[in-house]
Amino acid sequence: MKTKPASSPGAPCPAFETWVHAHRASFAQRATLLLLLLFSLAAQAQQPAFHALAFWTSGGETDHSDFARQAISFYTEAAARDHFDFRATTDWKELNPETLAHIDVVLWLNDQPHTDAQRTAFENYMNHGGGWLGSHVSGYNDSSTKWHWFVEFFGGAVFNANNWPPLPAQLIVDVRNHPVTHRLPATFLAPSNEWYVWKPSARANANVKVLVSFDPANYPLGFKDRLLSGDMPVVWTNTKYRMLYVNMGHGDKIFTNETQNHIFEDGLLWLSDRKTP
Ligand code: ZN
Repeated sequence: MKTKPASSPGAPCPAFETWVHAHRASFAQRATLLLLLLFSLAAQAQQPAFHALAFWTSGGETDHSDFARQAISFYTEAAARDHFDFRATTDWKELNPETLAHIDVVLWLNDQPHTDAQRTAFENYMNHGGGWLGSHVSGYNDSSTKWHWFVEFFGGAVFNANNWPPLPAQLIVDVRNHPVTHRLPATFLAPSNEWYVWKPSARANANVKVLVSFDPANYPLGFKDRLLSGDMPVVWTNTKYRMLYVNMGHGDKIFTNETQNHIFEDGLLWLSDRKTP
């Protein structure tokens, strides 16, 4: 949760003065009360602004694990900078109602729930105002994944194709006055990534706001697997939920670009604010 900025401890507090007059408080009583007030303000100032929990898997594709490890380092530093609580786990059993009750934003770095119970816990969490930041393969879905709710939540996008090998690509920032993109230029060259084409595209969904897209001038992209055409949103939110998907997340180059890093940091900060879904 966000904490309100504390009022200046030195300023006279009208309620405090009223209490002092009403109770004809002694100097000792006034000093004790003032100390308690100061301790309470100090404790409030030290509380983390919100709690984020990142889920990941260490097995599987090496490039996805590399990204996850770097994401954990990145968010650990961001947590110190922005005063929030960040923790990462490979134990997907923590995706349960008891744990989620204390979490403001869940991140999926390179994987998805492993069981129906974890899927259900996540659905209930998101349906009741939870926050989610998913990257790259964590948004993967096709006819084999059989999770209808997730496809709707994801904005209707279904995986269709990817380039290979991973390559840099020029990106277009569709919306620049959004909290997630406000530090981005109109276009930028993103570091090497495996880019996903979706069919249908999330842009076809009226509830989806696409924030960043793959520039069609990149086509053709790839050697072994070539992307030739298609609308390709790479960062979007389904406005029915407090969610953000970022396609970047393959390999150890993702966090080498300061501009792109703003998406990961500002995205999480935006999601943490329950007042602006
Ligand atoms: Zn990948």
